[in-house]
Amino acid sequence: AAIQAFSQHQWQAGPIVNGVTLDGEQHAITAPYNRAESVGQVAFSSASQVAQAIDVASEAYPEWSQVAASERGECLQRLADLLELHTGELVALCHREAGKTIQDSIDEIREAVDFCRFYGEQASSELASAKSIKSFDGSTKQLSYQGRGVFACISPWNFPLAIFLGQVSAALAAGNTVVAKPAEQTSLIAYRAIELMLEAGIPAGAIQLLPGTGAEVGATLTTDVRIAGVAFTGSTETAQRINRSLVARDCEAVPFIAETGGQNAMIVDSTALPEQVVRDVVRSAFASAGQRCSALRVLFVQADIADRIITLIKGAMAELSVGRPELHSTDVGPVIDIAAKEKLLTHIEALKSQSKLVAQAQLSDECKLGDFVAPTAFEISSIDILKNENFGPILHIVRFKANEIDQVVDQINHTGFGLTLGVHSRNERTYCRIEQRARVGNCYINRDQVGAVVGVQPFGGQGLSGTGPKAGGPHYLYRFTKDVLSA
Ligand code: ADP
Repeated sequence: AAIQAFSQHQWQAGPIVNGVTLDGEQHAITAPYNRAESVGQVAFSSASQVAQAIDVASEAYPEWSQVAASERGECLQRLADLLELHTGELVALCHREAGKTIQDSIDEIREAVDFCRFYGEQASSELASAKSIKSFDGSTKQLSYQGRGVFACISPWNFPLAIFLGQVSAALAAGNTVVAKPAEQTSLIAYRAIELMLEAGIPAGAIQLLPGTGAEVGATLTTDVRIAGVAFTGSTETAQRINRSLVARDCEAVPFIAETGGQNAMIVDSTALPEQVVRDVVRSAFASAGQRCSALRVLFVQADIADRIITLIKGAMAELSVGRPELHSTDVGPVIDIAAKEKLLTHIEALKSQSKLVAQAQLSDECKLGDFVAPTAFEISSIDILKNENFGPILHIVRFKANEIDQVVDQINHTGFGLTLGVHSRNERTYCRIEQRARVGNCYINRDQVGAVVGVQPFGGQGLSGTGPKAGGPHYLYRFTKDVLSA
């Protein structure tokens, strides 16, 4: 009922600087599942508003950094309470602006709440008081953690509330002030989140919002020398661009916390349970229309059982319901926008001419209204033909022989990405060996490979997939701090 109440609602958003919403060039936001459905309007930030936001955040830093860590933690707990109170609206907004299914939208809000509570709790318990450290000479020093200054938080559209608030809440909990740039596709939900932050008592100077494009607002923000650190989630290319500009700065090096793309694989040997494999493959590859950083892209299946697995995958894909994300019967909703759709369709067309099409799910008639891509599976000769991450519902299947498991892991490592890896095997020696040899952030054994659980299963990659430390893990918050030793 709460979602129904917001089914026609129009949201407005714009830059928020010092608690005030500013004007700017207006952009219409429409629903990914139906481009005729307006969701609202957002004003993008100008270059002078970016500078103004950094001015305000810089001025506010000394005061916010002196607020007791436990009090900063309490602000984040109040924010979590408010997110829970407004779950209905936020679920509707996430569903309509990002095109997520209702279940994905509920999970999204839950994860955002968890991040605020987790980093809020860490601030209250771990940063609140200095720790006594014994030196080699027998003397005792006090170790405390403080903020670093103004943090830029740059977030993607695929988890428009959870990742956005994950970054921002960690930066604030650590004692920084924040200038946040949400993805251009999902500014409305970010704007609502900032309104709730102000309501939760986070001072207006501590949190600024700058909607806009990456090329304009993002680049202006990350090249400003007053930025004391950057938290980023998005594509590997953008991370590399930001990293280069931070390294080229003619001033102090600053922390860069990046979570980026993957070329995630799953390895299935002949001892695996086929029915379980297929359930987990379909969920890992096609849930959220394949638009999760963790999603499965390349399934390596041992030749002895490949035909059986492929037959089951075909059957499961024929059952997938692709369509309007507000229906509980829908398995796969739209992709984020027309640009994403076209890129994925180009990849599908290219593969059709050089690989074997295994299966393609049906699109219902209503899919014509929005940006939908039919879940598609191909059999390919080698992972090497995949140069980039294909961020959508496309699965690539590669067969391997029983004695080739080590080579398979090496090929996966050779991509340079290292985010997630799934393994299905009932042979303990096999899966332990794979887990040890693979260079990935998260390895999932005999289960689906979607999902991170804040505080329980931290998430993040290595190599081209990110710098770490893992979000939702014990060390993430500390990357936003500087440690200070005093007598
Ligand atoms: P995707 O391809 O998934 O949209 P991006 O890396 O382009 O991934 O986007 C992730 C975030 O990075 C978005 O908020 C986007 O606006 C921002 N961004 C894109 N380009 C730049 C850039 N040159 N500098 C800073 N931020 C950028």
